[in-house]
Amino acid sequence: MTPALSVNNSRLADVRMELPSGAIGLLPIVLVVIAFLVIRYYRQWRNEQVRNRPFSAEMEQSLRKTLPFFERLSPADQQKLKQKVNLFLASKRFYGCAGLTITDDIRVTIAAEACLLILRHGGEAYPGLTSILVYPSAFVANHTESQADGVVSAESHHLLGESWDNGRVILAWDAVRRGAADFTDGNNVVLHEFAHQLDALSGRTDGAPPLMRNSYKSWARVLSRHYEDLVVRSERGLPTTMDTYGATNPAEFFAVATETFFEKPDELCARRSDLFEELKTYYGLDPRDWSA
Ligand SMILES: [Zn+2]
Repeated sequence: MTPALSVNNSRLADVRMELPSGAIGLLPIVLVVIAFLVIRYYRQWRNEQVRNRPFSAEMEQSLRKTLPFFERLSPADQQKLKQKVNLFLASKRFYGCAGLTITDDIRVTIAAEACLLILRHGGEAYPGLTSILVYPSAFVANHTESQADGVVSAESHHLLGESWDNGRVILAWDAVRRGAADFTDGNNVVLHEFAHQLDALSGRTDGAPPLMRNSYKSWARVLSRHYEDLVVRSERGLPTTMDTYGATNPAEFFAVATETFFEKPDELCARRSDLFEELKTYYGLDPRDWSA
């Protein structure tokens, strides 16, 4: 036994002598790089499989019911939207609350509207979002607020939707259905809450999402001016294209402007053309192309 062991040790010593000392030191780094490439390739392959999953007849029906203009999208946009919906459904978890059972109709309805917002955006869909909680109808949210004088107050509100920066969106299903039933009235809770999610990608929900195509200077100037105008119109009771809830603060203004942009594009363009142009650049599309 001893001689054989001695031969093996000797061969190992020979091999080591043939490798430069620097190459041995690099071995862990090479292994890490190979592991990284394998994981990346696997993720790309898996995403490709998920992205191109065929829609079932029920999913197709939900998609077309939710987005009545789907037929008028270009074939390339139709395909891209379905791919984004598939990736969205694979990466987010839906939870039924207060006895609601999550169905494919609920999942596809919410995913279709959420993905419409990012149809022309690259990258992962809502990367910080992990969970979507759905209640049958308006839900009660308990919030605590700290005042400047140190007093902490607790308040309860009945809400139709809520967007959190901790990876959650909460929706009332009857409000989602109402929003989908009329895609021309400027009220859509899914578009609203997912606009907040886009806004939050900057680290703060303040009406200024990360901008890829717009100028920050122009965005701030145009949105501030229209926000102030909506506040004045709201206070004076004057007619407005946008829901006056947008006058609450700049974050709500962006969310309500998004609803109006997608559901009443002609009216928004006619009344607030520079705001329309900023949103058109930001979303990378023009809803007038498919509006009836
Ligand atoms: Zn809001």
